[in-house]
Amino acid sequence: MKLMSSENPKPKKYMGQNFLIDQNILRKEARLLDPKLKTVLEIGAGDGRLSEKILELDPKRIFLIEKDERMIKILNDKFCGCGKQVIVIGGDVLEMELPEADVVAGNIPYYITSSIIFRLATQKFERAVLIVQKEFAKRMVAKPGDKNYGRLSVTAQLAFDVEYVQLVPRHLFRPVPKVDSAMIVLKPTGKTLTQFEENIIRYLFTHKNKTVRNALLDSKMFEKDELGALGEFAKRKVRTLTKEEVLEMAKLLG
Ligand code: SAH
Repeated sequence: MKLMSSENPKPKKYMGQNFLIDQNILRKEARLLDPKLKTVLEIGAGDGRLSEKILELDPKRIFLIEKDERMIKILNDKFCGCGKQVIVIGGDVLEMELPEADVVAGNIPYYITSSIIFRLATQKFERAVLIVQKEFAKRMVAKPGDKNYGRLSVTAQLAFDVEYVQLVPRHLFRPVPKVDSAMIVLKPTGKTLTQFEENIIRYLFTHKNKTVRNALLDSKMFEKDELGALGEFAKRKVRTLTKEEVLEMAKLLG
């Protein structure tokens, strides 16, 4: 295994390339993943600095997904012949069928964080340990009434038990990004949303400061008389609804 970090090519900002330089955080991420004898999927492996820490913990197999040709080369050079089962998959994570894996890891590119999370919501796995923008992590764990509570909170919390592990400050990345990050752990709940449920969540939370009735009327998807089914829910402010209440409303409207 070669250590090539000092020879890395110039980071591409538009690819979300911010490399984590803190060895302890990388090690903690690998430890929380608990990959021993498991199949691992790492998204946005970059130069393989997180992959190395995961490999130290004896996974059965690890798939490394990476889009940048220069990084793909580094990964192939670094891990070929390392004696472990490392499979480098070059391409865009959002455009490929993901390999089946027990656990998922990644310091995921900022510009596609929500797409990756929504994609993971359709996959089967035990646990994902991810580093995402801090604001994004806060929205994922926000509770009804919190300032950050919204569509992402409801959707993410229906699909996963979300745990905010710790802050990962911006100065631990190179180049230093404009915002802080956070480590999170996701455990799928097993619930997958129907298209109708997804739509209702979107209609409601596009207007989260309005009442349920006004938010749904604004969506132009319902007539006034259809909203009678909502009973007491009609007067509630959208931002106070729990995820269970949102599902109950979808049932009443469906
Ligand atoms: N794992 C490294 C790198 C994280 S930076 C670390 O911990 O430091 C994010 C990585 O995702 C970059 O290597 C970037 O090239 C890659 N990436 C960006 N967009 C991608 C996409 N659509 N599909 C797959 N990888 C992508």
